[in-house]
Amino acid sequence: MQEIGHWINGKLVAGTSGRFSEIFNPATGEVQARVALASTEELDHAVRAAAKAQEGWAATNPQRRARVMMAFGALINRDMDKLAEMVAREHGKTIPDAKGDVQRGLEVVEVCMGAPAMLKGEMMDSAGPGIDLYAMRQPLGVVAGITPFNFPAMIPLWKMAPALSCGNAMILKPSERVPSTSLYLAQLLQEAGLPDGVLQVVNGDKAAVDGILDHPLIQAVGFVGSTPIAQYIYGRAATNGKRAQCFGGAKNHMIIMPDADLDKAADALIGAGYGAAGERCMAISVAVPVGKATADALIDRLIPRIEALKVGPYTAGNDVDFGPLITKAAQDRVLGLIGSGVDQGAKLVVDGRGLKIQGYENGFFVGPSLFDNVTPEMEIYRQEIFGPVLSTVRTGSYEEALKLVMDNEYGNGTAIYTADGDTARDFASRVNVGMVGINFPIPVPLSYFSFGGWKRSAFGDLNQYGPDAFRFYTKTKTVTARWFSGIKDGAALNFKALD
Ligand code: NAD
Repeated sequence: MQEIGHWINGKLVAGTSGRFSEIFNPATGEVQARVALASTEELDHAVRAAAKAQEGWAATNPQRRARVMMAFGALINRDMDKLAEMVAREHGKTIPDAKGDVQRGLEVVEVCMGAPAMLKGEMMDSAGPGIDLYAMRQPLGVVAGITPFNFPAMIPLWKMAPALSCGNAMILKPSERVPSTSLYLAQLLQEAGLPDGVLQVVNGDKAAVDGILDHPLIQAVGFVGSTPIAQYIYGRAATNGKRAQCFGGAKNHMIIMPDADLDKAADALIGAGYGAAGERCMAISVAVPVGKATADALIDRLIPRIEALKVGPYTAGNDVDFGPLITKAAQDRVLGLIGSGVDQGAKLVVDGRGLKIQGYENGFFVGPSLFDNVTPEMEIYRQEIFGPVLSTVRTGSYEEALKLVMDNEYGNGTAIYTADGDTARDFASRVNVGMVGINFPIPVPLSYFSFGGWKRSAFGDLNQYGPDAFRFYTKTKTVTARWFSGIKDGAALNFKALD
């Protein structure tokens, strides 16, 4: 069986802890590899080596660092197919979706090719007599990235590209479910010219994460994952004096107004609700039609579209719209939640339970499911399902729909479908959610903006990638400099006695 280790000081190395985690083929249910889980000693070794390597990297001029990003971007493009296959093999998403995963990470690398422009700092000359004031942006030192399973390429790239281009070294701890892509990206960075030790990929579980949170040489932690873990990591990192930004789970609503183009809204809900089997933090999991006629017409449009969806292994190519869930536990959890929705009185309009795919009977598949008449007390509304399940909550007015979104504990993304600019503007202005789509279902900002949710979808005050990332991965030093009158007042011409 394939054994996956770590990437330390520019080499793939085996783990020494003796602990492993199994990596499944989600389409067949078989174990396809095992990944080493680092001990605190292994982590400490990686951090100390990174701290040494960081000194030289920080002293490398920003433009040269940016050139590494340029070469890295070219290599990601060169190996796009290979990377997408790697993502699909461990995660289970389709190849086109896996390419999107790599592409959205690559776009962050592209912005980091311009890092020097973001690192210029600020200057005020003559702030007083002979006094100049300037603020410099300096790297933090060694920083850590801890990432989830659902975007094996994109989220590690969101972390490593800004952190490294700012002159930091990084300890990346990818999800133990999908470790291979991060290890391969580290190899591409080496090929692009990154000095050994500046990026260390340490695979592991809670032991490695806790080691990161307590390590005195780690200055900052960027986390993406579920809300309870995000909150835990934020608290422990902050208690230990580290800078932390921790992005958590979501429950994203789409409001559908009576004047919306319902065919477009239904198409958008299919992509945003069921794409990647719903395993996206920006998936739309709640449709909120306004008015009975809108709700009835929307459900009528959704049913045939859902019934046409094809579920299967990524190896089936274009014959598949989405694949399996990540683990048996995830599959059981989603099936259980669908059952609880039925028990609590929601109407299961399309039932995805019991889906069996010939030749893949032990895969972690759940068919697309649609609920109508969901209410906010139900478990299926309260929990992030993270599966191919769309819930419909019917509302009587725009204000009622807006209040539903506002009262939800999560605030990652939301969308509104309407033909009315005034309603759309009001929604964008008032809603307490970090990323808003207007006739746009998954409003993940492009890489020159920053990404982040509100409420319990994010802990910390700066977002990821874009301009915020350059603030998060640098610290500001402000210098007040006064130069007294000197040589220009004539000191050099005459042969003077010293005073
Ligand atoms: P997860 O929280 O289980 O794991 C994320 C990371 O935390 C992994 O690296 C894992 O090893 C580590 N971890 C898990 N349990 C831990 C513990 N007890 N102590 C310390 N570390 C621990 O999340 P996941 O299942 O991999 O990813 C899915 C979740 O991530 C969903 O909730 C999804 O919404 C969220 N997500 C959020 C964003 C965002 O930007 N807001 C993006 C993608 C995914």
